[in-house]
Parts: sequence; C-alpha cells; structure tokens
Amino acid sequence: MRNYSTTKRVLVTGGAGFLGSHLCGRLLEKGYDVLCLDNMYTGTKENIAHMLGETRFEFMRHDVTFPLYVEVDEIFNLACPASPIHYQFDPVQTTKTSVHGAINMLGLAKRVKARILQASTSEVYGDPEVHPQEESYWGRVNPIGERACYDEGKRCAETLFFDYHRQHGLEIKVARIFNTYGPRMHPNDGRVVSNFIVQALKNEPITLYGDGMQTRSFCYVDDLVDGLIRLMASPADVIGPINLGNPVEYTVKQLAEKIIELTGSSSTMAFRPLPSDDPRQRQPNIGRAKELLDWEPTTELEEGLKKTIDYFENAFSA
Ligand code: NAD
Ligand code: UDP
Ligand code: UDP
Repeated sequence: MRNYSTTKRVLVTGGAGFLGSHLCGRLLEKGYDVLCLDNMYTGTKENIAHMLGETRFEFMRHDVTFPLYVEVDEIFNLACPASPIHYQFDPVQTTKTSVHGAINMLGLAKRVKARILQASTSEVYGDPEVHPQEESYWGRVNPIGERACYDEGKRCAETLFFDYHRQHGLEIKVARIFNTYGPRMHPNDGRVVSNFIVQALKNEPITLYGDGMQTRSFCYVDDLVDGLIRLMASPADVIGPINLGNPVEYTVKQLAEKIIELTGSSSTMAFRPLPSDDPRQRQPNIGRAKELLDWEPTTELEEGLKKTIDYFENAFSA
C-alpha cells in the first residue's frame, strides 16, 4: 500500500508510556513517521501532548491483544505495564498483553514484512543465581507466583519472537531491559525511583521494602532509548537477546540515601514487607551490547537522578 512519502514508518506500541514516549520523540528527531499506539492503561496523554502537533506523529488508541491492520516498516513492541503494582492489578490482562500482543504484532510484522523489536526484561532471569546476569543464563522464575504474569508473559513473548524468526524468517530484535528511570515516570507508577523521589520531595517516609539490601542497577532513559534505536538499526543477524541497562549496581537503601541527599529532604526511612519473589540482586552484563551495538550508558546515577528530580519538582509543583 503506497502513499506519497518515502519516510520510514515506525509503529511504537505502548508509545504513551514512560519509555515509549521518549522513544517516539527520538524517532521523530530522526525524521521518521511515528505511529504511537496505546490503550492508556498506564500511559498518559500528557506524555505525548508535545508531539501531537507534529505532522509525522499520529496517536492511535488500541489494545494490542486485538488484531491491528496498519502499514509500517518497523515495530517497537513496548506495550505492557512495567511496574509490579500495575502488572499485578490485572494479571490475566498482563499475560494477554504480552502473549496475545506479541502474536498480533508478529502477525502484523509478517504480513507487512516489517522488522520488529521486543521490549523484554531482566525479569526473565527471575531471582537469579548467576550474577551479573548474562544473556546465556536461562533464569530462575517462579511460574505460579505473583510476578509470573509479567515474567512468564515476557518469556513466552521471547519464545514467540524466536519461533516467528525460525519458522517464518521474520527480522526480530529482542532487548532485555534492566531497571530504567527518568522524567515522565508517573508519580503513582510504584517503581522505586519515582516512589522515592515523590516521597522525598514531600518529606514523607521513604518506603524501603525488606531490609533495603536487595540490589538493582539503574539506567537513565536517554541511554536506554539510544540502545533500543541502535539495536533496531543493527545488521539482520543481530537478533539478541541483548541486555540493555546500566551495570553500576546499588542497594535500594543506597538509592534512598542518594535521593534524600540530592533533594535535601528531611524524610526518614520506613521499612515495609518485601513483596513476594522480589529478586535479591540484579546487574546486567552488557558485553554483548558493547560488542555488537557499540553501546554503553553514559549517564551516571547522580546526573540522571538530578534530571528526574527536576522533572518531578516542575511537573507536579502546583
Ligand atoms: P509504562 O507502564 O510507562 O508503559 C507501558 C505502556 O504500555 C503504557 O503506556 C500502557 O498504557 C501501554 N499498554 C499496556 N497494555 C497495553 C495493551 N494491551 N495495548 C496497548 N498498550 C498497552 O512502562 P515503561 O517503563 O515505559 O515500559 C515499557 C516497556 O518496556 C514494557 O514492555 C516493559 O515491560 C519494558 N521494560 C521496562 C523497564 C523499565 O525499567 N522501565 C524494564 C524492563 C522492561
Ligand atoms: N494479525 C494482525 N495484523 C496483521 C496480520 C495478523 O493483527 O496485519 C494478527 C492476526 O489476528 C493473527 C495474528 O496476528 O491472529 C498472527 O498472525 P499469523 O499470520 O502469524 O497467524 P494466523 O493468522 O495464521 O493465525
Ligand atoms: N522498592 C522499595 N520501595 C518502593 C518501591 C520498590 O524498596 O517504594 C524495591 C522493590 O522491592 C525492589 C526494588 O525496589 O526490590 C525495585 O523495585 P521496582 O518495582 O522499581 O522494580 P523491579 O526491579 O522490582 O521490577
């Protein structure tokens, strides 16, 4: 199906979410025609409001669990709630989004011969015994736990991507994204960086789950989006999975201390029960991304946190 433009047409599912909206912005900067699709489950109109006036930007409200017939050249499949609070609110829908959503987007990619990238996750490693996590590790996931709707949904989506590649010759890319933070996280998102910043700015207690000694490695959103774009543009034989994340590891307690320091907050720390199956440790081995994509994060935690704190101060100061 032709139109008069030769501009590359890119579909971003979950485009009104935190990562998706940054990705849409970067793709517009690169001169592409962007179709942003979202069912607004955790996404917001505010995230994409600044792009709505652009001729090359189009928003479509749609749920990826239903078939979609559009004509595009590339697909970034990001649709899926990412915060434990939100993906556990309606776990059946979370699995449907990952699995039926992947089938529909792969079916679409097959029909229009589009290259397709899956936003997978470090959660496919579960509560890992191998540390740092490298792509060859198969993971340790509880298949019947409260996180399984997300973890197993994402694992099944990876299976579908590789089977469409092997069975139908689709050009696929699978990114395993580690904890990413930055402006446009929703204040009620529930993930650790936004929770701590919102609490610190209000001088309310910082809620540490468990003893706060579990670790995560935090990647700033601009670095992550750069990695996704490099992966999509990589040679056809680079299919992944590829870890994308910042390899510098912190305990959750260290993160709380850093945020209290940067905000000058008088917040104290309040310890709360550890959610079930909460991984004890997480750190990406990014050797593959360095070698194949010439990619590594450049934003240090303090710098990224300052930008994120500025965002929360300005966006919600009223
Ligand atoms: P987010 O919740 O801000 O964005 C997800 C978006 O998907 C939202 O806009 C939501 O409305 C939309 N969505 C959910 N279900 C949908 C459906 N059925 N149909 C259409 N749209 C739907 O989360 P995020 O952090 O931007 O995450 C984006 C993607 O990256 C997700 O797939 C997530 O699993 C993955 N990821 C993110 C991180 C991270 O740290 N941010 C880490 C690993 C993986
Ligand atoms: N699909 C879609 N858009 C398309 C083509 C397919 O949403 O442009 C959906 C379709 O509903 C189907 C799924 O993708 O259920 C998988 O498509 P595929 O062609 O792989 O399988 P089949 O249609 O043979 O079941
Ligand atoms: N966490 C916390 N307090 C909060 C939110 C999260 O201590 O208010 C912890 C959570 O238990 C986990 C880590 O911070 O160990 C990261 O949680 P998040 O939900 O951001 O992402 P996850 O990596 O668990 O998917």
